[in-house]
Amino acid sequence: MWKGRLKQDCIDASGGSVLGALRVSRARGILMAGVVMALTLTMSLHVDARARKSKRPRFCPRRYKVVSGDRLKDIARELNVKLEDLKKWNGLKSNRVPRNKRLRYRGPCVQSESIGKASHGRLKNGVSIDPDGDNKGNGWVIAARRTALWATPETKKYVYKCAAKYRAYFPKRKAAPIAIGDLSRRHGGRFPPHLSHQSGRDVDIGFINKKRPSKTGRFRRTTPRTLDHYKQWVLTKCFLDNPQTQYIFMEHSLVRSLKRYVKSLYRKRRPKMRKYLSYFPGGSKHVIRGDKEHRSHMHVRFKCPKGDRKCVN
Ligand SMILES: [Zn+2]
Repeated sequence: MWKGRLKQDCIDASGGSVLGALRVSRARGILMAGVVMALTLTMSLHVDARARKSKRPRFCPRRYKVVSGDRLKDIARELNVKLEDLKKWNGLKSNRVPRNKRLRYRGPCVQSESIGKASHGRLKNGVSIDPDGDNKGNGWVIAARRTALWATPETKKYVYKCAAKYRAYFPKRKAAPIAIGDLSRRHGGRFPPHLSHQSGRDVDIGFINKKRPSKTGRFRRTTPRTLDHYKQWVLTKCFLDNPQTQYIFMEHSLVRSLKRYVKSLYRKRRPKMRKYLSYFPGGSKHVIRGDKEHRSHMHVRFKCPKGDRKCVN
């Protein structure tokens, strides 16, 4: 009906009467209001979708320790999970459950939070990059004495991903694992001699050397002559491909050397060359930053995790 009236008004307008023109302007007003409303609705829906997307998973793996007198049915009700699920997750055939058994289930996540700046901040509910304490994982190793191995779950995920990618490129017999150094302390905060590493968003990773690569996770002072450019580039590229990577710090001469390598590597693939050179100093993205300090390792910083409102980039 609304549409019909609008049409009628349009027809009137072609007649050229004052009344017709007035009607048209009113119809236009209604139409505009409609468009604005529709736009607002679409935008708010879009924002909603984005907010929903940025939210972390609501359920995480958790454990429940069975105490004397516990019945499986009651536990399931208390944990807000289905009895059948609880049995399935724990490989239980019957409803009997031994005392002190730690039942696995999926429950509300304990949310981590990066607070403040990387150079003046804290870490709440961080995760250890080496929860089983064996100093190694897929494609990575940590020197035994290190203890500041805490980070946001996001940082951990990104480092694991690039270490795994590195390992997929270079199998064990071809390359030593990457050496992970300091992250943050358990609750973040000041961590001398580092200036940053305070909020779970920083990680040090040893440079990859051509000769005598470190298998123990110890860092080695590296120069353009000793740097294994190919391996270092595979690893660095993985972090550059992650839009959450904010900075990668390296010593000036190593930055220049890696840049030359990237130029020659992509000399026949111009768009790729342009893309990756933009991450170097002078480029539009400028993620890789030269400095005097980072001679034995690169330092990768990630942007604030989405949803960590007290985090400052
Ligand atoms: Zn560092």
